[in-house]
Amino acid sequence: MTLAAPSAILQGVGLHSGADASLRLLPASAGSGFVFRLLPSGQEIVACAANVIDTSRCTRLGTNGIEVQTVEHILSALAGLGVYDAVIELSGGEVPATDGSAAPFTALLNEAGLRPQEIPVTALTLTQPLYITDRGSSIIAIPAENFSATVVLDYPKVSYLGTQAAVYDEGADDYAGQIAPARTFGFLSEIEALRARGLGLGATRDNAVVLGEDRYETPLRFPNELARHKLLDLIGDLALVGRPLQMALFAIKPGHTLNTRLASLLSSDRPENC
Ligand SMILES: [Zn+2]
Repeated sequence: MTLAAPSAILQGVGLHSGADASLRLLPASAGSGFVFRLLPSGQEIVACAANVIDTSRCTRLGTNGIEVQTVEHILSALAGLGVYDAVIELSGGEVPATDGSAAPFTALLNEAGLRPQEIPVTALTLTQPLYITDRGSSIIAIPAENFSATVVLDYPKVSYLGTQAAVYDEGADDYAGQIAPARTFGFLSEIEALRARGLGLGATRDNAVVLGEDRYETPLRFPNELARHKLLDLIGDLALVGRPLQMALFAIKPGHTLNTRLASLLSSDRPENC
């Protein structure tokens, strides 16, 4: 699937850079995958696991001295709606933060319209389960008929968060309604440290769920919005594989580092994608 026509231009700021950023989505030919085109230079970065250069707080891609950051939410919207060929035209070097979710991107895609490709993309299947783990996070991938994902988060030191889970089944659930609107989040206590590292410069109460010491500082869209957002991120990072995944995923406290490691493992038979 690709876009039926170029989308409107979406304006905003980069969540981490704080700089003005704009984005437009364009149709692409079958098999071309996701390509970020940076304006005004027109230089391009293919969205694939081999081009991941950093995963602290967001997923950053780079090649030949150019880079683009916070790619996971737009890639999640594209894969979530079954789009696997698109050019993502960007100015500002970062995908606009919008409201911290992927809903503005699914709206942009639906407004532009989608069309099937003449040669449909083939799904990636597993022949045996995969298990990866890193510093308390783990993901299990099991062969299955269609894509589903379960995410579990655990914050034992934050009583009002505790344990929460989100489940998405491609065959039964609506990505645009159930997953895309879940916003990114951050602890108020971590914002200063994040900013000292040059991250989160564009984060405001309008584009992130703010977590206080003993309560949510932002009204929630779903009781388990945090787990739904991590599921959104997981789908976005795994979109780096470049094709639908026919498997069931179980992810405990997933993050961009582990997600992109799994994307890399799942891409190992198709290095030509990059
Ligand atoms: Zn995210």
